[in-house]
Amino acid sequence: MAKISINIGTGEVQKDSNVIIGIDLGTTNSLVAYIKDGEATAVRDKDGAHALVPSILHFEPSGGILVGNDAKEKLATEPERTIYSVKRLLGKNYGDVSDKQQYFSYKIIDDDQEALVKVKIDDKFYSPIQLSAEILKALKHRIEVELEAKVSKAVITVPAYFNDAQRQATRDAGKIAGLEVLRIINEPTAAALAYGIGRDPETEETIAVYDLGGGTFDISILQIQNGIFEVLATNGDTFLGGDDFDQAIIKYWVEKNPAITANQSDNFQSRLRISAEEAKKHLSSNDDFKTSLDQIDLTIDKNTFETIAADLVNRTIDSCKKALTDSGLDKTAISRVVTVGGSTRIPFVKKSVGDFFGKKVYDELNPDEVVALGASIQADILAGNQKDILLLDITPLSLGIETVGGLMDAIIPRNSKVPTRVAREYTTSVDGQKNLKVSVFQGERDLVKDNRKLGEFILKDIPPMPAGIPKIEISFLLDADGILVVRAKELRSNTVQEIEIRSQYGLSEEEMAKMLIDSLQNAEADMKIRGLLEARNEANNIILSSDKFLKQHDAILSDEEKTQTTKLLEDLKKAAREEDKDAINLAMEQLNEYTAPIAHRAMDITIAEAMKGEKL
Ligand code: ADP
Ligand code: MG
Repeated sequence: MAKISINIGTGEVQKDSNVIIGIDLGTTNSLVAYIKDGEATAVRDKDGAHALVPSILHFEPSGGILVGNDAKEKLATEPERTIYSVKRLLGKNYGDVSDKQQYFSYKIIDDDQEALVKVKIDDKFYSPIQLSAEILKALKHRIEVELEAKVSKAVITVPAYFNDAQRQATRDAGKIAGLEVLRIINEPTAAALAYGIGRDPETEETIAVYDLGGGTFDISILQIQNGIFEVLATNGDTFLGGDDFDQAIIKYWVEKNPAITANQSDNFQSRLRISAEEAKKHLSSNDDFKTSLDQIDLTIDKNTFETIAADLVNRTIDSCKKALTDSGLDKTAISRVVTVGGSTRIPFVKKSVGDFFGKKVYDELNPDEVVALGASIQADILAGNQKDILLLDITPLSLGIETVGGLMDAIIPRNSKVPTRVAREYTTSVDGQKNLKVSVFQGERDLVKDNRKLGEFILKDIPPMPAGIPKIEISFLLDADGILVVRAKELRSNTVQEIEIRSQYGLSEEEMAKMLIDSLQNAEADMKIRGLLEARNEANNIILSSDKFLKQHDAILSDEEKTQTTKLLEDLKKAAREEDKDAINLAMEQLNEYTAPIAHRAMDITIAEAMKGEKL
């Protein structure tokens, strides 16, 4: 249902659209797509010509900001006020990029190595998040013009290798642009979705997504199972893309005519770059290219281009080999290969990829639109319009709580599908216990001290009951956005307490990988200590109930029974203080064996007394 709001000042009706948009926020180009009449559609400019918005910003001296093609035109004339490739800076601190200044014509600064980088224009500083937000605002505006309504929700794509900080920065950019970012999804996942791959939960397959854009190359190996996309491996080169093909053409022209290097007139070098890109694109569908710049003839044919581009293409194929090795797969295990990115329009690139994998590549969709189209499909799924499709996220690490003795009790195991709700029942360990502390952890180790604490709270006002009687349900609800709600409820009294944890922002992929590796390396030691702690917990419970038993049934126990039970109980207490799991178990067994007949007798007496009391 669309909401209607009226601007009281102007009386103008502003419709709110409930469309969720899909955005490809690219290094070179960005675009927005949505589901129009049931079909994923990229939104074009007013003339219906271009869907791509160059990811370029120009800061006018007057304070205005140009985005897209208008900004791109300023790249040649005012490079220091014109910003491109901001995606390379997103979520990075200065230490990460200080050696890369030569790639940028504008100024990247920060005096603090740890802080996130900023860009300086005049005497103002802009963070990459703000700059990305400007691009997102332009895209948001574009679709609002098309729909004649406001949009407020989006799915945005990021490279599969983006870490948590980079993903969070992308979310924040969305927020600044006035968009609620419902989901960040991986670009290769979006590309696969655009081709309908993974829609059928029955099929299991492994695919490769080859993405050659303007300045970056990514190869991703994805395993798709039950509608879940898992990244098995990524490889690539963050400084290899279409720009390098343009440079190769310039180099060829300079070799033929060295004079052009010296030409500094009228932004000649910038115009040369533009001609080189034009030549490259032309050769994707023609055999010859010819133009002239300041009376200098610039020509190149397709064969020559393929010769000078071979090195670059071979580098991408090397990355493909590495990704396969990392995923532990042979290329015959790859069922489909999807080509993504404007540079895969080059027939030679497409052919090389197809030859390497021994398959015809999936290329029917526009390679520079396919990621945004997939994002819009994911958006439509989130909007609930495509009910036959599963949501695509999984939890990377287990989520659980601390139980007695510092043990981790995993409630949502890692690799669970999201959203999910799991509840488990617990009880108290002390008589009359009024409060229960619930500490929430993330990680794979058996002891919570080795995992990461996400939060804690106290369930208060549990009505006093003997240990083991209260029924406390702890439930974990993890929603599609990674927000975890942990709730504790005492079922007899309905006392409830809960907390909300936004867990996904805390850890980088690397930290997550480290936690997993740690858990594997320590599995044996962890298991030993878990065994000890579990035995000790059980012993403590038995000690408590035996003490109680001795007091309650003092009258019916013989002196010998009392002495012997007390002795066995002392043995168990001693064992529980030490580190030997087997000794604890043995002491428990001996105590149980001795007291079981006495407990039976005590029960019989209790029942008989109760019966006696009954007046029939
Ligand atoms: P990104 O994902 O990095 O933002 P894109 O996927 O939009 O980038 O790819 C941009 C690159 O694609 C540019 O280098 C551009 O020159 C190149 N490109 C676009 N169309 C063609 C074409 N027809 N032939 C060759 N290269 C092309
Ligand atoms: Mg891209």
